[in-house]
Parts: sequence; C-alpha cells; structure tokens
Amino acid sequence: MPVTEPDDLRARLDAARSVCVLTGSGISAESGLPTFRGVGGLWRTHRVEELASPQGFARDPLLVWSWYAERRKAHASVEPSPAHFALAALEARIADFTLATQNVDSLHLRAGSRNVLELHGKMREAKCNRCDERRPLDDVLAALDTPDVTLSDPNVILSLSKDGRSPLLHHCGGMWRPDIVWFGEALPAHVLEAAFDAAARAELMLVVGTSGLVQPAASLATKRCTRAYVVEINPEETVLTAHVDRSIRARASDVLPELAR
Ligand code: NAD
Repeated sequence: MPVTEPDDLRARLDAARSVCVLTGSGISAESGLPTFRGVGGLWRTHRVEELASPQGFARDPLLVWSWYAERRKAHASVEPSPAHFALAALEARIADFTLATQNVDSLHLRAGSRNVLELHGKMREAKCNRCDERRPLDDVLAALDTPDVTLSDPNVILSLSKDGRSPLLHHCGGMWRPDIVWFGEALPAHVLEAAFDAAARAELMLVVGTSGLVQPAASLATKRCTRAYVVEINPEETVLTAHVDRSIRARASDVLPELAR
C-alpha cells in the first residue's frame, strides 16, 4: 500500500459489520470523466448550472438534451476504474454494505456493485416531467437523432412540437427529460432515506472522491454517520477533512484496490 495508507484500515474494514461508502465524481475521474469542477465552468458558452435546472430545460430543452447527449456518449466510452471494481469486491465480502453515489454515470453498476443508491439520479433513464414515467435515455436520444430530427437543428424539433410529433413530447402532455436531480430539485425521497439509514447503521464510512460541497449528500459523511469511523480518500483537502476521523491524501485507485485484495 502507498505510504499514505493507514495500517489499521483493513482491520477496521474486517471488523465492521456495516459499511457505507459515499462517492463523488473523483472516483470517475479515474475512468477519464471530468469531475464537477472539470465541467463546472462552461459547456460551450453555457453555465452548467443554467443547463441542469428545470428553468434551463423550460427555456431550451433541445440545448439541454444536446448537453446530455454529449455526456452520455462520454460515459459510454469509458470503463469502470480499478477503484470502482474494488468497491464491488468489498461489497461481496460484507453483508451490510451500501454505496451511495453522487455520480450519474452508472460506472458503479457496470463494475458490479449491487446495493447502489444513486442520490442524484442516473443518466441511463429519461422521465416524463409531468407524470414521471421512465424509459431508457438512449431511446430518446435515438429518436432525436433520426436523419430528419437532428440535435443541431432546434427549428425542426420546435416545428414538430407544434403538431405533437416531437420525440420529446410524452402522450400525457409532459416532456421527456433526463432522470437527473437538477439544481434546485429535491433528491428522490426513498433514495435519500435509505442513504441516511445506511449512514446511521455504518461502523465504517468511506468517503471517496467528493469535495463535500453538495448537500444533502455531504451530510452522510458528517452528521448522518453518528457511530462510524469515517475515512476520506481524496488527493486534496476538502471541507469534510476537518470532520472525518482520518483523511488519506491519495487517489481512489491508490487505496481501494489494495484494500479489496
Ligand atoms: P467535485 O468535482 O465537487 O469534487 C471532486 C473531488 O474528487 C475533489 O475533491 C477532488 O479532489 C477529488 N478527486 C479528484 N480525483 C480523484 C481521485 N483520483 N481519487 C479520489 N478523489 C479524487 O464532485 P462531487 O463532490 O461529486 O460533487 C459534484 C456534483 O457533480 C455531484 O452532484 C455529481 O452528481 C455531479 N457530477 C457527476 C459526475 C459523474 O457522474 N461522473 C461528473 C461530474 C459531476
């Protein structure tokens, strides 16, 4: 293990009957996806906060879909990292193991993790913004990407919308949007509750690759895990560092694969 690795982490892991892990975009940086700060400035000429919001979607749904089309493509082009696989291997060894992630890239599921709570939604599904019906996100993208309805031609989409044939319109009158928790929206209540419960049960909490700036996710690593020994794994200091029991200044893949071995 690297010099930053505490000797007792493996022992703590072996002794823990209940483990909770909180991950953020840093773990997917290992797969080549940008962290939030990486994409958090501008996308083309648009602020991400303006795109990832109900207001942004109402203003320009096609623009928002174009952004997600690009990100979906990026997600599909990368593989889970050794750190993702290590968490799946740990889950197989521990009866009560919960992985709460802020990531929407599905890489934990692709690595084989099963008990995954996707706090901020998932970029593999679309939902109707009126009746909440779900369908695969790729179906919507495929419908948008037919030769006569291209993502680069907003006028085509808008004119189709007028006679009700837009691929973005659901038959209930709502519109298809990505199943992502946008700025200003609440997290899915049942997912958040399950994450709070897991944090409260946990004897060991691993906090991997998150800046801890997004609430309520970050509270899992602070006030929600009342009995856990909390270990942060992040190459940089974060706002969580002062609150955790141990902070390991290393990349996720420097620590987790060794821990899972
Ligand atoms: P963030 O960008 O705020 O923080 C990323 C953290 O990861 C930083 O503290 C950084 O030091 C750390 N990091 C970078 N490389 C690392 C590595 N190799 N190992 C361990 N840590 C590493 O991201 P956040 O805390 O996840 O919050 C931002 C929001 O952005 C979340 O709501 C999330 O849903 C969203 N987001 C998701 C994805 C994704 O699904 N892949 C990508 C970008 C943003």
